[in-house]
Amino acid sequence: MKAVLLNSGGIDTLAAAQMLKEQGHELHSLFIGMGQPNQVLALIASKKIADAYCSSHFEFIIPGEWSVSSPNAPAGGISIPYLTGVVFLMGCVYARKIGVEYIVSAVKGTHVEAFKPTLLALQKANSIIPVIIIPITPLENKSDAEVYEMVKNNPLLKETVSCAWSPPCGVCKKCLDRKAREIDVA
Ligand SMILES: [Zn+2]
Repeated sequence: MKAVLLNSGGIDTLAAAQMLKEQGHELHSLFIGMGQPNQVLALIASKKIADAYCSSHFEFIIPGEWSVSSPNAPAGGISIPYLTGVVFLMGCVYARKIGVEYIVSAVKGTHVEAFKPTLLALQKANSIIPVIIIPITPLENKSDAEVYEMVKNNPLLKETVSCAWSPPCGVCKKCLDRKAREIDVA
């Protein structure tokens, strides 16, 4: 399989890239910047993951002032459903551009189950992409602990980003999770 890897520079992306590469798949990295506070750090991390596991790497940067907010998002923030949707759709467009039929996302959790059929329906209903691009979500049923087990010996683990802020805030759940697992907070 040839697939676009939606590359956030995070631990989940690293685990998905490692897993699919071990299975012999060809990955093409796509980083999408939406003006998030940690964008520069995330971009650096995504390049390191791409260098190790991907045949190519592309950066699509959306200026921060264009970011999509919702009433449920923190002030100036991006809500998760919108973020997932925009990232998945951009992944489909990029997959079409480079001629591959799959996108890989490392998202976890219950919204993935609902989102995948929605993405397929959106593509069919709008005919915006001549070939239907299939989303692959290899980590959708895994917990944070299971993902950590997959990559705990991967030298790139310490290069990944978790915190949404730059520099890492040190006090959010993601920063505390990294400290608990003794992963450097880059
Ligand atoms: Zn933090």
